[in-house]
Amino acid sequence: MIITIHSQATSDERAQLMTLLCRITGSQTPVTTTILGEREIIALDIKALDNDARAALQTQQAVAEITHIQTAYKLVSRAFQAESSSIVIGSTHDGQPVTIGGEANSPVIMAGPCAVEDREQLVETARAVKAAGADVLRGGAFKPRTSPYQFQGLGIEGLHLLAEARELTGLPVITEVMETEMVDTIAQYADVLQIGARNMQNFALLRAVGHHPHKLPVLLKRGLSATIDEWLLAAEYIVAAGNPNVILCERGIRSYDPQTRNVLDLSCVPLLHQLTHLPIIVDPSHATGKRELVPTMSRASIAAEADGLIIEVHPDPDHALCDGRQSITPSQLAGIVRESRAITSLLHGEVYVA
Ligand code: PEP
Ligand code: MN
Repeated sequence: MIITIHSQATSDERAQLMTLLCRITGSQTPVTTTILGEREIIALDIKALDNDARAALQTQQAVAEITHIQTAYKLVSRAFQAESSSIVIGSTHDGQPVTIGGEANSPVIMAGPCAVEDREQLVETARAVKAAGADVLRGGAFKPRTSPYQFQGLGIEGLHLLAEARELTGLPVITEVMETEMVDTIAQYADVLQIGARNMQNFALLRAVGHHPHKLPVLLKRGLSATIDEWLLAAEYIVAAGNPNVILCERGIRSYDPQTRNVLDLSCVPLLHQLTHLPIIVDPSHATGKRELVPTMSRASIAAEADGLIIEVHPDPDHALCDGRQSITPSQLAGIVRESRAITSLLHGEVYVA
């Protein structure tokens, strides 16, 4: 259930509503409210209301509207918001902003190295990503690695290099945040905060990116073996904390077959468009783990109506410090960008001229 609070409600009327809601939910802790744009709302997971409670709620002066939503996730559901969300990436720093989701009719392509390795590697890749026609530069400064002995990223130095690459190319940048304590620091550099698969259910981190005053777009990757409902509930944490700018990213899920790194669940793309108004992009690099599969799965993702892609690119993939096997070269990226735009034009019934 979602209750929209009357914009002119007095503090007494609000207090009365809160007391009633605590009684209905049987909770001692105060019910929390969320501001979403112009709208102040309270989301509650109540399966059924008895008639007395329903009548009491409907007569509250502070209540403008009550919306019943059956799913456990509320604010991210299509039932709550029928129109697809569009999110502007890159409006905080000095890059060239790009819109993802909603009626945006061009897929947003994010590309760059798995990890920022050094200045030369990043600047060369950023220039190539720009020349290939992609929209956003990716690059990990803090890397979640399976082994503590693997390259962990350049840390703050990596953030400085990403900011420099943005200045040189105009591309907004996306980078991963792994710890709650680092959200504020990374928000000073990044245009999009990436939450990696391993942190999809780090609830403290989800709340922290939700509360952050900049409300920077958050790319929420699907957990290693997360169900779609768990993933949407993770997104709900961010939105319920006050940040509606969440982009979902399918990056493959665990399976028993080591031939590919993960299994790319492409069916989740059209399914998520039914379940949620949030944009959804695909990461064919981590999904497959093999660079030769990336162009085909990129085409398939756009044909499945993904709102964009995030792809690992390296000028010398065989010598990358991280995820080289799945990294493509800049010239392959140019082909993927071209094909993505062509497929989108076809989907929209436009005549495409290469
Ligand atoms: C990454 O994008 O480099 C990354 C670590 O991805 P994931 O969290 O999907 O494994
Ligand atoms: Mn990677």
